[in-house]
Amino acid sequence: MAEKKQYGMLQMEEDKKKYFDKLIMKKNFAKVDPELKEMILGARKGMPPIIDIHTHPYTQTGWRSLGKFRVHLEKYLYGKKDITPEQISAALPTEDEWVVPFKELGVKVMPCAWAAKTTMGSDPLYKDNTNDEIAAMRDKYPDTVITGWGSVDPWQGWKALEETIRCCKELNLIGLKFQQVGQAFHVNDQRFYPLWDLCQELGMPIQLHTGFTGLGSGAPGALGTKIKYTMQMIPDIDDISADFPNLKIIMLHCSDGRDEDAVLLCRHKGNIYRELSGIWPNYLPENAPKTVYEANRRQRHKYMFGSEFNLYPLDGIIYQHMTFGWREGVLESMFWENTVRILGPELERVGVDLKQWKTNLKEV
Ligand SMILES: [Zn+2]
Repeated sequence: MAEKKQYGMLQMEEDKKKYFDKLIMKKNFAKVDPELKEMILGARKGMPPIIDIHTHPYTQTGWRSLGKFRVHLEKYLYGKKDITPEQISAALPTEDEWVVPFKELGVKVMPCAWAAKTTMGSDPLYKDNTNDEIAAMRDKYPDTVITGWGSVDPWQGWKALEETIRCCKELNLIGLKFQQVGQAFHVNDQRFYPLWDLCQELGMPIQLHTGFTGLGSGAPGALGTKIKYTMQMIPDIDDISADFPNLKIIMLHCSDGRDEDAVLLCRHKGNIYRELSGIWPNYLPENAPKTVYEANRRQRHKYMFGSEFNLYPLDGIIYQHMTFGWREGVLESMFWENTVRILGPELERVGVDLKQWKTNLKEV
């Protein structure tokens, strides 16, 4: 038998590593590989569950929140040309199947809603991932879906404010998620200030897309989308984080193309936090070297885990993080410690019992 080597926090033979490295890219994302599962669970024995703060319910119907962009993503992300909407639906999991990987890997998850009628509503394929649907997932799978992120269409004015209140008071969701390219707005536009003011008052954190986006990527005119909404994090996010100091802002993804701005914003503003989904971890050193450097060092307490399931496989993303070579302790901080420290009060507000994490939490 060949000798086992250490890769990050996992031990395996070299051939096995090569096998898994390939497998995670081409496997069915909604099905957990039994060998990967065993390795992941084995490596984390005795640890409290991973908390995944960023996922989308791209189910057989849920994928339509991306409408024509999803059809295009099939080509951009997975190299599939000429795929039809019917084929996309058929290949994706049902809602019951969508939660299975989280259950199998013991991961607690917070899915995101999606509301962009103003900008995407003319697309016949488009359909919101509604806040009610996210709340219903939590109620249906309480052991796995611990809460969720609501979404409001910022262009809907007072309706967006009303829906924000409903997300908080009625649906009991933790916060709101925005995708500024899909929703075509600058967060520091004064017209949207009432929204941030309200979120701050309600104690609802927000997730903001940062840096490059795959939406429309590679298509002529990127299907009409503009990346200016997420590429100019300074002043956009700089402004609102300063003007709403009690608003917790989670910058999503590795801020591809704005690596330096992202680490500086995160360092400058105590109310800015990050997560790194939307890219295979192995590409992080190329696309976001400063982020990797800081996440391994002085900013290690600011990063939370997001998988971007099911655009990416949950087991594959966890596996690649585990073999990535994060410094000792960094990955467990990202997997749950930071999340419990950063979002603890909000998680408790929506009724999540944090006991299993808190008993394991060290002072920092
Ligand atoms: Zn996402």
